[in-house]
Amino acid sequence: MNPSIADNIARVQAQILAACQAAGCTPGSVHLLAVSKTWGPDAVRQAHAAGLTAFGENYIQEAVDKITALRDLPLEWHCIGPIQSNKTRLVAEHFDWVHSVDRLKIAQRLSEQRPAELPPLQVCIQVNVDGGHNKSGVSPEELPALAQAVAALPRLQLRGLMTIPEPAETEAQMRAVHAQANALYEALRQQGLPLDTLSMGMSADMAAAIAEGSTLVRVGTAIFGQR
Ligand SMILES: *Cc1c(COP(=O)(O)O)cnc(C)c1O
Repeated sequence: MNPSIADNIARVQAQILAACQAAGCTPGSVHLLAVSKTWGPDAVRQAHAAGLTAFGENYIQEAVDKITALRDLPLEWHCIGPIQSNKTRLVAEHFDWVHSVDRLKIAQRLSEQRPAELPPLQVCIQVNVDGGHNKSGVSPEELPALAQAVAALPRLQLRGLMTIPEPAETEAQMRAVHAQANALYEALRQQGLPLDTLSMGMSADMAAAIAEGSTLVRVGTAIFGQR
């Protein structure tokens, strides 16, 4: 049990509000996704009691166990980690959102395997904006074709983009990478894709991401503590 989770959430929400006001965006337009990977169901229950409903997980099997243990709560689960082909069925059956789609093959499997009784899986495409050695994510060059193909799949709803930039040394460097992601996002919207989600910013770069147009920050450490 960690009695400070509620305090941490209040502090993070205040930081989001301040960053949002500084950037001139409408309060409430930046969503908070609590990244609960490695933390047990009790920590998620505490975060839910403090008002959060959306949780992000990286490791599929760990997540499925947690989702099952928390069926009594009205939670929304987001897959934010790499997905191997042999895990797509678990993801399609248990999650509400996936932020980490970066290949058409994975998207096709998710669409085929999404159970008919569930709403379409909400999807973001992970884009590798800075060419970092973390090789996950589609390149900016390949993004438009992948986005059009994913948008056409029947059981997926394409909502936007997700980025995980390499750690940067200065605020200006962080903002430059986030601005590039925002430009890719806006270009897809110009092409007519009805996107509303730019998933960027974590505990360390939340304010920089919001300043550059993030609509959803994924925060683990600042809520639950060091993993
Ligand atoms: C772990 C993780 C986060 C949360 O990172 P913190 O630094 O703990 O806030 C966000 N996004 C992704 C994709 C992650 O894997």
